[in-house]
Amino acid sequence: MALKVCKFGGTSMADGNVMNAVKKIILSDPSRKYVVVSAPGKRFSGDIKVTDLLYSCFDEIKRTGNCQSSFAKVRTRFESIVKELNLSMDMTAVLDETERRLVEEKSEDFTASRGEYLSARVMAVLLGATFVDSEDVVFFNEQGRLSSDKTYKAIAKAVEGQEMVVFPGFYGKDTRGKVKTFSRGGSDITGAIVARAVNASVYENWTDVSGFLACDPRIVDNPKRIRTLSYKELFELSYMGANVLHSDSIYPVRKANIPIVIKNTFRPEDEGTSIIPISQYKPEGNVVTGIAGKKNFTVILIEKTHMNSEIGFVRKVLSVLERENIPIEHIPSGIDTMSVVFDSSYAKDYKLERVIEGIKNDVEPDVIRVMENVALIATVGHGMSSSIGTSARLFKAMAQANINAKLIDQGSSELNIIVGVKNEDCEKCISAIYHEFFA
Ligand code: ASP
Repeated sequence: MALKVCKFGGTSMADGNVMNAVKKIILSDPSRKYVVVSAPGKRFSGDIKVTDLLYSCFDEIKRTGNCQSSFAKVRTRFESIVKELNLSMDMTAVLDETERRLVEEKSEDFTASRGEYLSARVMAVLLGATFVDSEDVVFFNEQGRLSSDKTYKAIAKAVEGQEMVVFPGFYGKDTRGKVKTFSRGGSDITGAIVARAVNASVYENWTDVSGFLACDPRIVDNPKRIRTLSYKELFELSYMGANVLHSDSIYPVRKANIPIVIKNTFRPEDEGTSIIPISQYKPEGNVVTGIAGKKNFTVILIEKTHMNSEIGFVRKVLSVLERENIPIEHIPSGIDTMSVVFDSSYAKDYKLERVIEGIKNDVEPDVIRVMENVALIATVGHGMSSSIGTSARLFKAMAQANINAKLIDQGSSELNIIVGVKNEDCEKCISAIYHEFFA
């Protein structure tokens, strides 16, 4: 029998009304057995997500030792949800206990995780389903990574014999027995983990958009919806800023070939976007699948004559960044030049100076230059490998929009072309590339 895991994002949990719509969606399909929820999100623009309210609670705890005033807002959100839903549960007792534990634990991750915890408690009552706490079934190892086998086994065991289960997204437990969260947006990862653990036939990710769009709708009006994407394309686009789905959520499902379907809670009849293994992928005839961009990268450009024949040159440069704990995004290179690209938040001011000094000392370059405020734009699509002239079209579009490419990197898989431009050209560049390939 088909078995679906459904994850509902913050906007689908925002108030009692939407939660009722969620219930209708779940009950309309008997294969929707396992549900993962986020913390309540924004109800209107300018509203504050519960997770953000909780981070403020933690700040208050650090400052004053309690979180009475910030937690009051969280309390009001959940009390009004329970009232709107007309649920017979003692939410005040659950909230009191939560507030007590926040003060006792004094942990940022624990505090942040309570939005999902409370959401799931309410959803379980609404659905008449079993609540399984993710801290009992999602485990992190010493390195802070998911302890996959242990987690999959624990989830499979927890759902045994249960008709319907609700899990809170976003967190698990570390090796010290403390609650630990994934990075922001991490409930998507929990959904994928549950899908893998129960060997679901599909992982439905319910959000507030009708699927993945070819680019950010804030940049281009009404961009084309992507009907199917491969896991790889999804990863590239999510990683580069398309924020429909957390990029790490593909790892658990990819190995088991479980498709992800992005659906819209507010328009459940819309087809959405399916993310599938490359083996099942049928190209829709377009060269480019999507375009995404991210700002604020730093590029260090290094030139040295005969660099290519100097054994260990690249390793020595990379060791400097390793010493400073800086993850590297790209390393475009020429015969006598190489660049290293990394997220600027990892090396600012004195740390950046230390990196430059380190490179100067260790490899004695002829020239070393730093570019900051660089945006990276990824043009992604399996269709690019089989069509001639894609890069030419891309660069022509950029030239016509008067945008200078600061760097270019084409992955060897021919799945993407990355260009680096000035931060302020980011939107213009995405729009120019979109119009070239989709107009
Ligand atoms: N509530 C968390 C966040 O705002 C996790 C999630 O929604 O996926 O990042």
